[in-house]
Amino acid sequence: MNAYARILPYLWPYRRALVLSAFCALAISFFWAANLSATLPVVELLFKGKSLHTYVDDKITEYQGEVDEQQRVADAERDDPHKLDRALRKGHAAAYRVSLLTMVRDQLMPWVPQDNFRTMCLVLLGLVIGTVFKGTFIYLEDILVGDAINHVIIDVRKDCFRHALNMDYQSLSANGSAHFTSRLVNDIEVLGAGLHAMLIRVVREPLKAGGCILFAFMVNWRLTLLSILVMPCLGWMLHRFGRSLKKASHGTLESITALQKALTETFDSAKAVIAFGNGRKHRNQFHHANKFYWSKARRVLRLSSLSRQLSELIGVAAVLAAVFPGSYLLLNQTDTFLGIQLSEGVPDEAQLALLYGLLAGTLDSIRKMSSVNRELRRGSAACERVLEIIDQKTQVPEPAEPRPMPRLSSRACGVQEAGGEGAVESGVVPRSFEIRFEGVVFRYFSHTKDGVTRPPALNNVDLTVRQGEVVAVVGANGSGKSTLINLIPRFFDPDTGRVLIDGVNIREVSSRELRSRIGIVSQETLLFDDTIFNNIRYGKMDASNEEIEQAAQQAHVMPFVAQLPDGFDTMIGEKGMKLSGGQRQRLALARAIIRDPDILILDEATSAIDAQSEQIIHNVLKSFVKDRTVFIISHVFNETFLDLVTRIVVMDNGRVVATGTHVELLASCPTYQRLNQANGITKAA
Ligand code: ADP
Ligand code: MG
Repeated sequence: MNAYARILPYLWPYRRALVLSAFCALAISFFWAANLSATLPVVELLFKGKSLHTYVDDKITEYQGEVDEQQRVADAERDDPHKLDRALRKGHAAAYRVSLLTMVRDQLMPWVPQDNFRTMCLVLLGLVIGTVFKGTFIYLEDILVGDAINHVIIDVRKDCFRHALNMDYQSLSANGSAHFTSRLVNDIEVLGAGLHAMLIRVVREPLKAGGCILFAFMVNWRLTLLSILVMPCLGWMLHRFGRSLKKASHGTLESITALQKALTETFDSAKAVIAFGNGRKHRNQFHHANKFYWSKARRVLRLSSLSRQLSELIGVAAVLAAVFPGSYLLLNQTDTFLGIQLSEGVPDEAQLALLYGLLAGTLDSIRKMSSVNRELRRGSAACERVLEIIDQKTQVPEPAEPRPMPRLSSRACGVQEAGGEGAVESGVVPRSFEIRFEGVVFRYFSHTKDGVTRPPALNNVDLTVRQGEVVAVVGANGSGKSTLINLIPRFFDPDTGRVLIDGVNIREVSSRELRSRIGIVSQETLLFDDTIFNNIRYGKMDASNEEIEQAAQQAHVMPFVAQLPDGFDTMIGEKGMKLSGGQRQRLALARAIIRDPDILILDEATSAIDAQSEQIIHNVLKSFVKDRTVFIISHVFNETFLDLVTRIVVMDNGRVVATGTHVELLASCPTYQRLNQANGITKAA
């Protein structure tokens, strides 16, 4: 239950509504018990044919007789203090009843008709009015609490989403999208239902039961007490079942995540599914996920049904604890059962009927409480899963006091050339800006069960890239090229070693500022279901139309936009499905170009572009890369590409094995020679 305690801060802003709703719940419990109390006059009128006037008068006479009787006993037993005390107490109780009933006779009875049928009509009218009032308060409570909970759900959802977005890339991708969507959509909904159960049912039902018990106490406190003695059993049972229910609920929520995962994976890779004709395999996977869900849901179903029946049984036992001795008293015309006094005088039918009516009213609440138990535990399980997101720490923390980001590009600080006039004017001492990897070691999360760690993806990498360089990173698949450049925008941080920009560790600057200087085009183009225009604008949200068009020109997007009927306003579909691979890459390039980045990273960015467009783009890049620091990962070493790059970094097995120009490497680096032979290109010196 302490998971709910963590939600309290979210409820706090709505405290006024919740306090009001508690008042509504009080009113509801009053009207609930009052309505049930109509049993008394109904029994008197219908079954005994007695008018209420006669009933009240009879009762007054009866209790007055009791007062006189006890007075007599008291007079007779003056010598026995114990008996005297008892007689006096009984006398006081009877006198109290007499005064209460006299008040009813004088204040209330003049309003009650003498005619029995009319009285009955009045009672029924009272019942209707009571029900209308009760309904109104229930409506008010539902609205007050429901609105507050909907707000809380939205607030928690927003908070979760914010936390998820602040998470590092590796954690995000390790958890997978189903992990987040099922928590953000389904679990928060279940949490809402749990809160609803807590704020409405947990307040309303015990109050209703409490109201009934209070009224029942006034009718016969001894019998009511007998009934209440059974209640701890119920509490214990609800608690025991609650724990199992929570565990089972964790299981169902987990299984819903599995279902969602099976679905998203299939539809995300629909093309592969169709092409390989492996629908059956996915149906199987889905079937297993469904079966998993079924087994978990079955457990919740059984537990909750069992707990409902058991609590009903305990409730009936509670009523019986009063009914059984009560019937004995009435049928044997006595006030003691097994030597214990259970009533002030012999109870009459109407009194017992009222008592049972009120206890049955308690039973109804108890039954509802057990289904509340289920909602509460489910909500608590969901709450824990939601809090997991809020509690998860990012692996790429922001610095507490970020250092200013060094100016990497001379364009950015108005310096034309190192040592030029601009530098002197702006007071910046011109330096050679650089990006430096120092002793970098990096391992991806390892998920192996036996704890065997993966070999490091980067193993002691040292590399310095000066500002203005266009560095090609080459190497076999899996040699660590992407991992290396992903360190620059801090997709993850190195395990040991550091990445410095102009001498400042990038962990010490604001990642927002760092990333604002970087433009990335990766192999997966990662576009959004929006227009071409807006997808380019994603790179710089405040870009003007001219800037967007210019970036589109540079990335060679214009030729295909011109052919589309809607031009820039063409919707490109989910993940850019409606474009070809090459078109998507050009769009992604435009998005990176419009950022006007100091550091440009192209990770196999032109792999899907045709040779002719690639050459054009390389030529465009040639002017664009001026004064920027550029990393290009590519497998194709054609002439325009080699013209573009100023230095080549060769990677093998997570290490930088050599750096140099094409000619130098051809002469000295066997790894590079092998890569080149595979490409069939050997550019002349
Ligand atoms: P490439 O040079 O082809 O770009 P990468 O840098 O992508 O190579 O990968 C280097 C190594 O790290 C590979 O052995 C790969 O299996 C591993 N790797 C890459 N991404 C992940 C990941 N998200 N989780 C675990 N291992 C990964
Ligand atoms: Mg790669």
